Amino acid sequence: MIRLVQDPGFRRWLDQMQAIGGCAHPIYLSGQTTTRDAATGDVLRVYSTADEPHGVLAVRCGNRRESRCEPCSRLHGGDTFHLVRAGLTGGKTVPAAVVDHPRLFVTLTAPGFGPVHRATADERCRPRRSGCQCIHGSDLGCGAIHGESDSTVGQPLCPACYDYSAHVLWHAKAGELWNRTCILVRRSLAASLSVKQRDLNNHLRVSFAKVAEYQKRGAVHVHAVIRVDGPDGPSTPPPSRVSSRMLSEVVESAVEDVETRTPYAPALGEYIIQWGDQFDVHPISPESARATVTDSAVAAYVAKYVSKSVGDVGGVDRPIESASEIGRLSVTPHVRALMGTCWRLGGIPALESLRLRLWAHTLGYRGHVLTKSRKYSTTYAALQAVRATFRSGSRGEDEEGVSVESVWRYVSSGHSLAEAEIASGIAADISMTRDIAREEGGRVSRGGGVD
Ligand SMILES: [Zn+2]
Ligand SMILES: [Zn+2]
Ligand SMILES: [Zn+2]
Repeated sequence: MIRLVQDPGFRRWLDQMQAIGGCAHPIYLSGQTTTRDAATGDVLRVYSTADEPHGVLAVRCGNRRESRCEPCSRLHGGDTFHLVRAGLTGGKTVPAAVVDHPRLFVTLTAPGFGPVHRATADERCRPRRSGCQCIHGSDLGCGAIHGESDSTVGQPLCPACYDYSAHVLWHAKAGELWNRTCILVRRSLAASLSVKQRDLNNHLRVSFAKVAEYQKRGAVHVHAVIRVDGPDGPSTPPPSRVSSRMLSEVVESAVEDVETRTPYAPALGEYIIQWGDQFDVHPISPESARATVTDSAVAAYVAKYVSKSVGDVGGVDRPIESASEIGRLSVTPHVRALMGTCWRLGGIPALESLRLRLWAHTLGYRGHVLTKSRKYSTTYAALQAVRATFRSGSRGEDEEGVSVESVWRYVSSGHSLAEAEIASGIAADISMTRDIAREEGGRVSRGGGVD
């Protein structure tokens, strides 16, 4: 720490860390960029890392996972907040009239695969008369009261009774189940408007943003915002017959009816894949005094889950390379059994299309954490471009008529212990400032973005 602070480049290094938000795994590059006038070839600006401490510039790792880099995942979470919020309230290229379009916040779950220990406030976990045991000799009840942080929460009462195959196969098909649900929603909307399904786009557009969240039992939950616009997207109103209430009914029955099947495999058969009975469909209200599910609440909720990953249920965030690796990972017995099941079923030729071995680290789930339809709102790329422009100091002026030439070389990555300490302090300061800004912004400017 003393050596670091006494380094002549320390102040400039601190500036670099500030600029990248205290990233936990920065990447150090050396090189230069030259900006020229495209017409005349005159050099307008030159930036070179030769003038930086040790001749290198730190850039963000940009990882969206909290378990890898908290500051970068927060930045990504912030982008997600704006992206989801813009789709709900307008802003960032989305017209403000979308607040009057029917919008739902939907939570879908996986079905049960066997009883697991539950976290409850003051109720017993699984009350049952004593002495009831399964064929493996495990108790079928649990009289304990588990807190949220209790490590037994989410673990099966009897691992031998738990249907691990059904769990990972459900994960492998969850993305398809969602797609089929969307198709069914469109089909019922077409039917209720008495139009042909292929003509539905001439009347309305259905757009969505969804995130997946791992529950304690290692199964994903899906949270989605569904919005109905007119034929040309957010700028046009939907048909007056399509209300939030009507959309809720359509979505609820699609969730109940939809199903898909796994490919038939000898000794396993065929699994029917459906949503769990516990689902929730809520119309979203514009910001108002008493509404419980409001625009900002939904956006914040969705953003929070994007930075979560399978790491938060004790999994790992990179692909697994061999069966023996699963045995060596420090994970709960439940997660190890789920990964082991992915590996075992992944070796069955009939199930090859599910690519279970490649996705063993995510317990078979192949979906992106956040997916959204094109018309929903702005994109990460657009938000990042705004930030890059701001950072480079050109403050949004369109840099037309210039050519930029860059040569960059990777030098190293990561922090020393002392550097990590300082970077995490910077990240903590930034996050505190942001929380205060968000709170104040939320109070003062209802409906105005918080940047
Ligand atoms: Zn980072
Ligand atoms: Zn229990
Ligand atoms: Zn059992």
